[in-house]
Amino acid sequence: MSSMPAAFIGHGSPMNTLENNRFTDAWSAFAASFEKPRAILAISAHWYINATAVTSMANPRVIHDFYGFPQELFDFDYPVAGDVALAKHVGEIVEPVWVGLDDDSWGIDHGTWSVLAHMYPHADVPVVQLAIDASKPLSYHLDLGARLAPLRDEGVLILASGNVVHNLRAIDWRRGDEGFDWAQRFDADARAVLRRDPSQLAELAESTDFSLAVPTPDHFLPLAYLAGLAASAATVPSTFAEGCVLGSLSMTSYAI
Ligand code: ZN
Repeated sequence: MSSMPAAFIGHGSPMNTLENNRFTDAWSAFAASFEKPRAILAISAHWYINATAVTSMANPRVIHDFYGFPQELFDFDYPVAGDVALAKHVGEIVEPVWVGLDDDSWGIDHGTWSVLAHMYPHADVPVVQLAIDASKPLSYHLDLGARLAPLRDEGVLILASGNVVHNLRAIDWRRGDEGFDWAQRFDADARAVLRRDPSQLAELAESTDFSLAVPTPDHFLPLAYLAGLAASAATVPSTFAEGCVLGSLSMTSYAI
């Protein structure tokens, strides 16, 4: 089996689960561009806890971790299998980093299933989620991403899901399919760093737009996993979707 890609996807609003737009079209086209993986390791902005852990249940529950959306979204189901052996294997390959096995607290959240609904609508590829450890610095996440690299040669798709720019307070619904100047500028800065040297992702913290673009680290940190994987493969990511929506969300997606 050839080496799997790895990706960072800008997931945006949970409504993307039910909608078809240029971003969801890009997600399905991306999935169609390589052979079906044997499993997916998903790193979602929405599992942001004070621990490094993976879901290790055979049948993870589908978590609807949002409020104020239509009932149709709460009724959305993504009955995908877990992969207990893969969960344990992740703990082995990243040693000495310690990874807890979660068999009862989390499951598959919308950072993962809103994207997989388009990539693998039949929910036929098992999914393990990796939590983002909120207690750790950016360098930890870059390093942990790099440690996951062997999975790519084992038929596992590594899928990080967040948003390079994610400021919910600044959202302007009238902006539709465009971003504020500062959001577009930060998105472009991120593209420039990743295309030059993904190991230098921390440079973005120096940007004057950083505090507006990344008011909290949760949606930005998944990008560190793709950057770490790119650095370990001595390559640079390319984008397969670009752009901002609603003023303060970047939907830009990257793959290696
Ligand atoms: Zn989100």
